[in-house]
Amino acid sequence: MGIPAMDEIRKQRLQYLSEWVEHHCYRNREEIALSERCLCVGCGLWLVPTEIIKWYEDKHACCPDCGLTGVVVGSKSGIPLDEVRSNMKVD
Ligand SMILES: [Zn+2]
Repeated sequence: MGIPAMDEIRKQRLQYLSEWVEHHCYRNREEIALSERCLCVGCGLWLVPTEIIKWYEDKHACCPDCGLTGVVVGSKSGIPLDEVRSNMKVD
């Protein structure tokens, strides 16, 4: 036992964040409407709610840039979006 290695802590944090995102990237229309800003975890694009004009089955946000569904999360979720994005492999 002992103190977990840093990469193990980081791995757990990333797992925690990705599960958090999973719980907010679908059926999120109301939450996104209440958010100040949104992040696409598919392509890393920052969005404001009014930029999201396509909704899959009227419930799930679609990213206007990469076109994927289930990748947009809003700040209202409480997810630390900057941290999520900083862990993405995007510019
Ligand atoms: Zn996107």
